[in-house]
Amino acid sequence: MAGRCRRRSARRPCVARHYGEYRRLDSAHRPLGRPGGRSSTKGPALNADPASQARLLDLQALDSSLDRLDHRRRTLPELATIDELTARLREVSDALVLAETLESDLARDQRKAEGDVDQVRQRSDRDQQRLDAGQVSSSRELENLQSEIGSLARRRSDLEDVVLEIMERREIAQADMSSLAADRDKLTAELASVTAKRDALFAEIDAEIAASRAARAAVAPDVGAELLALYEKIRATSDGVGAAALHRARCEGCHLTVNPAELGQLRAAPPDAVLRCEECLRILVRTPDSGL
Ligand SMILES: [Zn+2]
Repeated sequence: MAGRCRRRSARRPCVARHYGEYRRLDSAHRPLGRPGGRSSTKGPALNADPASQARLLDLQALDSSLDRLDHRRRTLPELATIDELTARLREVSDALVLAETLESDLARDQRKAEGDVDQVRQRSDRDQQRLDAGQVSSSRELENLQSEIGSLARRRSDLEDVVLEIMERREIAQADMSSLAADRDKLTAELASVTAKRDALFAEIDAEIAASRAARAAVAPDVGAELLALYEKIRATSDGVGAAALHRARCEGCHLTVNPAELGQLRAAPPDAVLRCEECLRILVRTPDSGL
């Protein structure tokens, strides 16, 4: 097992292979602080009051809580629902505008077609009146008038068909408008409801964030500037976890068990020495159940 790990080229293949249970046998052969070893990336040794180190765990808990709150705020399911509803509302509103435009065009066409029917009817009425009044004497003129009345009747019938066809299309457009307007109203109401829910959750999360930030501001001075700077630096590159408790010989940051040789060195370190996990390089904070 140790030999296999020694051949590794990646930084922490054993972590991937054995998850939290692997004891790093190879590091038993590597003294702490060996030149060129991984511990050389730790930087200069740092000392800090044990109470400050313990406070670092409180700070870490608050920072982790703030990270979780921030993540929750950014990934609320309501946000995706709002995006989806907004997109659907836009589609429905666009379709409604098209339906309204079509209906208005058809209304104009209908007025024009009805005007044409009126003109034909008036002319036909005039002809009929002339005919009824006996104003036409010549048989030729009478024949022409009767012929015109006949063709006007056919023309009127055609124009009335056009009006009917336009009215039918208008009815369809109006039905589309009603249906789209109903969809729009439903989506608008849904969007308002989800937005209100999101805002309520935002308010809730923001209150928790404010409380955690206030608690953090109270804890940070207890940690001390130097230790805090180191913690922030590690936290930025270690998934938001800069400090972890050493719990029963296990680093709570990477969840790996510290091997006996390394544990012996941790045990021998003075209480104010800031310890680092050999594996994940996070600050290791001693607790009563560290197993030292
Ligand atoms: Zn670790």
